[in-house]
Order: sequence, then structure tokens, then C-alpha cells
Amino acid sequence: MRGGKDSDRRFFRLADSKYRNLYLYLAFAVSILAVVCNGFISNRFGNSVLPLPFGDYSIPASSVSGVVQAVSATSCILMVIIDYKTGVKLAFFTFLFSIFGISRGIIATGSMASIPGLANCIIFIFVTFLIGYQLEASDRFALTDSSTGLPNRYGFERVLNSRLSGIGRGYVAYLHVGGFHDLNANLGRKYGNIILKETAARISAIIGERGDVFKIEGAEFAIILSEECNYESVLGQVIDAVEAPIEVDKNGISIKCFVSANVGVADFYDRHLSTDEVMMCTDVAMNYAVNHDESKICTYNDALKAKVARTTEIEKMIKEALEKEYFYLQYQPQFILDGKKLRGFEALVRLRMPDGSVVSPGEFIPIAEKTDLILEIDRYVRHRAMTEFKEICSRSGDSLVVSVNVSAKEISNLGFSDEVLDMIREIGFPAECLEIEITEYSLVQSMENTIINIQDLREHGVKIAVDDFGTGYTSLSQLLNLPVSLLKIDKSLIDNIEDSEINRDFVKTVIYMGHLMNCEVISEGVEKERQLRLLNQFDCDFIQGFVWSRPLDYDAAVELCDQSI
Ligand code: C2E
Ligand code: MG
Ligand code: MG
Repeated sequence: MRGGKDSDRRFFRLADSKYRNLYLYLAFAVSILAVVCNGFISNRFGNSVLPLPFGDYSIPASSVSGVVQAVSATSCILMVIIDYKTGVKLAFFTFLFSIFGISRGIIATGSMASIPGLANCIIFIFVTFLIGYQLEASDRFALTDSSTGLPNRYGFERVLNSRLSGIGRGYVAYLHVGGFHDLNANLGRKYGNIILKETAARISAIIGERGDVFKIEGAEFAIILSEECNYESVLGQVIDAVEAPIEVDKNGISIKCFVSANVGVADFYDRHLSTDEVMMCTDVAMNYAVNHDESKICTYNDALKAKVARTTEIEKMIKEALEKEYFYLQYQPQFILDGKKLRGFEALVRLRMPDGSVVSPGEFIPIAEKTDLILEIDRYVRHRAMTEFKEICSRSGDSLVVSVNVSAKEISNLGFSDEVLDMIREIGFPAECLEIEITEYSLVQSMENTIINIQDLREHGVKIAVDDFGTGYTSLSQLLNLPVSLLKIDKSLIDNIEDSEINRDFVKTVIYMGHLMNCEVISEGVEKERQLRLLNQFDCDFIQGFVWSRPLDYDAAVELCDQSI
């Protein structure tokens, strides 16, 4: 959470106290009371001597007056420390009031004895102004971000604090600007700072009078918007402005730079939340916006809270499952379409917790993919699938294929192929029987590393399949560069082949094209006999789907192998 350790380091300031107004007006009351007391002492006792209530001692009235004036001056300085803007005004008023009282006394009595009191007042006015000015300057320095000139995180917390203690509604937004890492690496920090400054200027220009802008972390900004504005429209304009190209001049060459923006928003004034809670909600919303492609603006609400809680819970489950081996595999058979002969299996990971609750891969795989946990899961699946099928595959004369899925993150890691080949050797699994399924999406990630890994694996006999083919990421030219052995046509295309002529033609073309590229083609998610017949007409090589078999437990898969080998 923003704030964390830094906020612990902050010392207690009267100015930040929630009772600051109470302290301020208490000090004002004391100062006025002291001035009134002073007037009373001067008028009543003048230059006389006051007897003390004990012994035979006495004290000049003017000395008592001096002490009372010191109390008034101290209260005025306190007021300035609590709030230098209002404090200076109240102190000025107190001293004027005092000057008026003293002058009146001098005129009425004709005595010059109070002249030093008058001089004191003028000196104190000067001192309070000086303290006020110094406090304002140091505050401005401490609350300003030096790279952009915007108020910084402490300034933000202070403004948010005061808004939350006021009435009304509003919105607080965190804006995360992405891409600085690459810009700094490619152009240098100097240019990174120029772009950051320009970004800050664009945000401020759009927000204008509608709210306040703060720079809170590396490339994160906070925006406080008033209730009246349509926050989605304003923040949408901010995102457009930030994402528009920024031109920088490097060694006489003009370079267009791009950054991305994601925003998390919390609507808070209604809920009586503390500053920390509001910041936490906004943070959660911003992280969601950054990590999910659903929308660039994410608003904090109860549904998001539940989603985030569920994600955290699943992450915990995955870690525990990896540690205690709660993961297990099911194997879905793949068949040669012509004749229904077994081709092999796709290993599909399953998660069952000891309390019997089952989490579907559709839910936990995307969460694992956001962290490095997916790497551990995939490694576990590969190891287990190869260990379980080593003997059967060897017995089949290398004609059975076991497919495992790998995440986009993994296939683009340099060293991935070495790791797989080491595992194959360690287990003693026939490399020709292993198939690695990469998704279309992984081909748009780091392409160079992916090609190196794929080529290395192919050279050692491992098969490569492109999973979920047809869902829209791969270009044909990319595919032609890759030694892929199998295209897996996605279920979403198969679903409609009976009803949609376009889909039918598309699937037919993909199969034709796959064969031209020397690839075999499998259709996934085949559920109906009619789909089987059409795919047969289109010369599809293999099918995988509920029509012939759902995913099976290991024993059932072995039984199926025994029948067909
Ligand atoms: P996928 O790799 O495309 O796997 C095929 C999914 O389609 C499986 O769902 C399978 O059960 C399902 N399916 C197969 N035939 C049919 C059918 O006829 N009808 C229907 N309705 N569904 C069918 P599952 O097991 O839920 O897996 C979902 C996704 O999770 C997989 O899609 C894959 O992307 C991911 N996944 C599963 N295991 C792993 C793994 O070990 N590693 C990684 N990285 N991802 C995995
Ligand atoms: Mg798959
Ligand atoms: Mg698939």
C-alpha cells in the first residue's frame, strides 16, 4: 500500500492533526484573553506595585503585564505553526487589537510607560510573519516533486486528508504510466525525465480547474476530482492525452515516444473511509487496470473487491498445491479422424484441494500466468506426464504422442529448450513422443527467443503444436518461419461449422493451408457427429473432443492405450 514505511518515518505535526482547528482557535482565544488581561492590568494598576499573596513581597504591575504579553505572543506563534495561512492572519489581528489597547491607555493616562509594550507588538508582528513565510517555503519544498513541479505524495495525502474531513463527494484516481522502463533503457534517463515532465503537463492541462494533480511515485500520478465532473470522460481525455506521441529531440533527430496509461478510481466520500483505506482501494483498482486488458479505467467497487480477494485466495492455493502436490493430471485422448485410432493425449492440469474443492484451470491458469507460478506448474505437468507415460510410449514404438501446454512466458525464455531436453534425458522419455503446445499469443511475445527454443526442440525430435489456432494473433508469415508440426484449430471455430458457411470455409482453408505448410491439423472441442463428418470431408487429420472422449484419469488413459497398442 502507498504510504507504508515512508509514512511511518514522518514525525507528528500539529498541522496534520485532525484537531488542528480546535488547537488553532484555542490558541487564538488564549491570545485574545491575554491581551484583554493586559489591558485590565494596565488600566487598573498602572505603574503601581502589586503585593504578592505570600510574605511581604510585591511585584511591579508592568512586570506582570510583560508576562501576560509573552503568553499572548507565544499563542500567536503557535497559531502560525498550526496553520501558517490562517495563523498569521489571526496573530496579526491579535497584535492590532493589542496595539489599539495599549495606544488607548497611553492617550488616556498620558504615561509613556507602555511604549515598550507597543514596540514588542511590532517586533512580534515581524517575527510571526517571518516564521509563517519560512514554514510556507519549507512546506512547499517538502510537498513538491522536483522532477515535475507537481505536489508530491505527502501533498496528496494532506489534501486527501482535508477533503475527507470535509463534506461532499468526489473521486480519487491513480494513473499508472507504463513504458518508462524501456524509454529510460533506450534513450537514457535524461529523456525519460523530459517525457515524464511532458506527461505531467498534459495531465495538468486536461484536469485544469476540475481537480488537483499530484505525482506520487516513479511514474504514477494521483488525481482528485470534484463530484460534479463526469470522471470517466475526464479520465478518458487524460488517457488519450498521455498516450498521444511525445516528440523529443535527440542529437538533432526528432523521436516519437509512446507511453501507456491505466487508471484506477475510487469514489469515496460517501463511505466514511480513512485516507489509508481510500488509497488502498484506489491502488487495488489501478493494479487491476494495469494487469487486466478489460479496460484502461477500473473503478473500485464491491465486485472488484471480491475478484481481488478471490485472486489472492487462488494464488495462495496454487502455492500450497505446488508445495504439497495437490495438482494432478487428466489426459484427453486425441484420435486419428479417419478410423478413430488413438493418436495420443493432451495432459491437462487439475487442482483439487484437500477439502474437496476443485478449481478449474480456466480460473487458476490465468492467475498463475500473471506470476511466475505458471512456470512451476508447467514444469510439474511436463515431469509428471513424461514419467507416467515413459513406459507406455516406449512400448508403443514411439507412435503415441503426449502433449503438454506451455505458457507464453515460458517459451520466450532463453534456456527453455535446454531445460526440456534435460528433463527428457533425465526421465528417459522418447523425445519424438513429446509435443509442446504453444499458444498463438506466445508468437507475438519475444519472437526471437521463441524461434530459438522451437528450432532447438524440433532438432531433437520434439513436436510443436500451435494451440487455439484461429483466435487471432498469428500472421501467416510468422507461421511460415516456424518449424511447427501441428495446428490445433480452436473450439470456437469448430462450434459454428455446421451453421456458418464462413466458418466452414475458414476451417477448410486452415486445414488446406496447414497441409501446404507441412503441418498436421487437429480440431479441438469437437462435440457432434455432424462436425466429425464435415471435418472428415475437409481432410482434417486428428480430432480431440467430447464426441469421442472427455479428459480421462491416468488409469483410464492407460486402459485406452492398452486396447489400441
Ligand atoms: P486448451 O489447451 O485449449 O485445452 C483444451 C481445453 O478444452 C480443455 O479444458 C479441455 O477439457 C477442453 N475441451 C476439450 N474438448 C472439449 C469439448 O469437446 N467440449 C468442451 N466444452 N471442452 C473441451 P481445460 O482442461 O479446462 O483447460 C482449459 C485451458 O487451461 C487449456 O486450454 C489450457 O490453455 C489451460 N491448461 C490446462 N492445463 C494446462 C497446463 O498444464 N499448462 C498450461 N500452461 N495451461 C494449461
Ligand atoms: Mg492445449
Ligand atoms: Mg486449445
